[in-house]
Amino acid sequence: MAAERFSLEGVAAVPGVPKPDPVVVIDDLGRAFGGIQAVDVAHLEVQRGTITSLIGPNGAGKTTLFNVLTGFDRPQHGRWQLNGGPLVGIPAFRVARLGMVRTFQLTKSLARLTVLENLMVAAKDQVGESFWGSLFGNWRPIEAANEDKALASLERFGLRHMAGEYAGGLSGGQRKLLEMARALMVDPEVVMLDEPTAGVNPALTQSLLEHIKNLRRDGMTVVFIEHDMDVVQEISDWVICMSQGRLIAEGPPGEVARNPSVIDAYLGKHHGEIT
Ligand code: ATP
Repeated sequence: MAAERFSLEGVAAVPGVPKPDPVVVIDDLGRAFGGIQAVDVAHLEVQRGTITSLIGPNGAGKTTLFNVLTGFDRPQHGRWQLNGGPLVGIPAFRVARLGMVRTFQLTKSLARLTVLENLMVAAKDQVGESFWGSLFGNWRPIEAANEDKALASLERFGLRHMAGEYAGGLSGGQRKLLEMARALMVDPEVVMLDEPTAGVNPALTQSLLEHIKNLRRDGMTVVFIEHDMDVVQEISDWVICMSQGRLIAEGPPGEVARNPSVIDAYLGKHHGEIT
């Protein structure tokens, strides 16, 4: 996928700049909570096949933007598209099936399922979803195909040997891997990761970063929220910085890290975090 990454060369480091081959396009997106404008994005494009990181101080609006794009929250106004198709008003499960999926931390209910079951419930085609399928019992092939796919996904993330364990018993790092494995069950084009390395030890962080690079290698676009600037510098093709709901900078990682508006946004919140 190197050719696609390099196609960002020459793109100006200006907020809202058009990309040569955008997979996601956002226009005039606004989400407020009471008097707080959590997201206020005039225009944003995400280049296909890249690892794009979304940074910004606490409360910048990153998670809210993820929630809106993936159908888990509704904005007051705005338009956004995946591959040119509008996503406004489409619920989260359909957004995932259309190819854009976000990871979530393991909830209590998912912790009570096995690792394999966690993937099976995330599959696109499930037995219970088709009335005629469940009535006439032609669900076995679907179930078997989902299980094969789930096991292959667990293999990919080194969790195959944990398939029968309760997910609640996984370590913090293994849970992060499970979140990614679950996301791949819908054959996504765009994978959105919310702080994939948070709370993970340095050795496992390296392994997670390799898995993220492999998603790009396999043709997926990765957008991830990250607070660790070393991680951002290491794997991002492109960085987007938000502050107070707005895009304040975007560009290659080195350039964004030196951008005075980005430094100001961070210094206003946490002294010394971005160095
Ligand atoms: P962090 O890095 O700390 O996770 P963030 O950049 O993801 O922050 P958001 O969580 O999107 O920021 O929050 C943006 C703003 O919207 C904050 O001021 C937050 O308090 C507010 N906000 C987010 N969700 C809600 C909600 N459900 N109700 C009220 N206010 C909210």
